Amino acid sequence: MNGPGYYLFLGRGDYALSRVPLDAIDPRWRKPGTISTNPADWSFSWGLPEWKEKLRFLRGCGAQRVYLIMNAFELPYPSRAYPAVVEPDHVNVRQEFFQGVLDFAQTLGLEIFAAFSTTGHADRAIELYPQMAGRHADGKPWQCAMCHNNPHAREFARTIVTEVLSRYHGFAGVYFHPPEVGEFCWCDRCRQLYRIQTGRDLTAADDTTRMTWFWQTALDFLDELRVLAKSFQPQFPTVMCTVPAWVPIFSALRDHIHREVTLLHWDYGSFTPAAAERIGARLAIYGSGGHTLGFITSVRFAMQELNLDQLRDHTARKLAFVKTHGVNEIVYFVGPVWFPDSILAATLADDPTTNRNGPV
Ligand SMILES: [Zn+2]
Repeated sequence: MNGPGYYLFLGRGDYALSRVPLDAIDPRWRKPGTISTNPADWSFSWGLPEWKEKLRFLRGCGAQRVYLIMNAFELPYPSRAYPAVVEPDHVNVRQEFFQGVLDFAQTLGLEIFAAFSTTGHADRAIELYPQMAGRHADGKPWQCAMCHNNPHAREFARTIVTEVLSRYHGFAGVYFHPPEVGEFCWCDRCRQLYRIQTGRDLTAADDTTRMTWFWQTALDFLDELRVLAKSFQPQFPTVMCTVPAWVPIFSALRDHIHREVTLLHWDYGSFTPAAAERIGARLAIYGSGGHTLGFITSVRFAMQELNLDQLRDHTARKLAFVKTHGVNEIVYFVGPVWFPDSILAATLADDPTTNRNGPV
């Protein structure tokens, strides 16, 4: 990679449902200081002119790639397959313009990767189609993730990939965000499949066996999505981010991730000695399968505790550290809210020369 990547959301992503007012985001899990209550800061309110301005800014920061998440809680485009799941107030839903973003990016020499939350971050779809959800031990549905072993959920994830890649043209690759769940699924589908595969009852297996099997089958499904995406563009590079639940069992998972997949490990907070130890250990684990490694840092998450100068300092030390631990792609997490000061501070931390001419 010659320049960094930036990770943005086309819609609200996993930050909020469209029915939730911007000043009412649950402070228990979204730190209010990281969120703007001004709709103009949020990507769901941007039309083509605003996207052009943002992409020019990022190109001026040296950006080579933009990872753009195309689904999550809701869909930021007028889906024909799941029209009830769209963000109704999203500009691209009301008057579709997104192809113009891809066309403009190409004129800038900027690669846009289509990013998918796959069976995770699926809150709105699960509200509408609870039969797709994974299950807790007590039988209650998960709030945010589908079960990838459920045929309805598989169809949903496959349909979103198909719909996005056939509706819009000019993507440079695909990015998959595995479901961000920390427990295994207790649904009947998982039990049936485990019995077919092993002849044993899933509920009799120990927790590590269950977690490992859950993630092996999840990664096998993610590989089906990779193959599906490549049926649209055989040369598509595939990138996938890591999930904390993988850490203790990764040696049993790594062979379920195709060698061509770049793994992006993410760690968004400030760069403390504890963070260095954690990041170093995890990069060693994720590098053990021979995959190309990248690293995502956030331009905003640590801003609860850091000012802009501190953000620059922490980012500089963090990125210098990961580059000595096998990382050769840097990505800045931006999300669905635009904070240009933080983007510049984080970018300049890594390469003070990239923005010497300012945004183009
Ligand atoms: Zn299940």
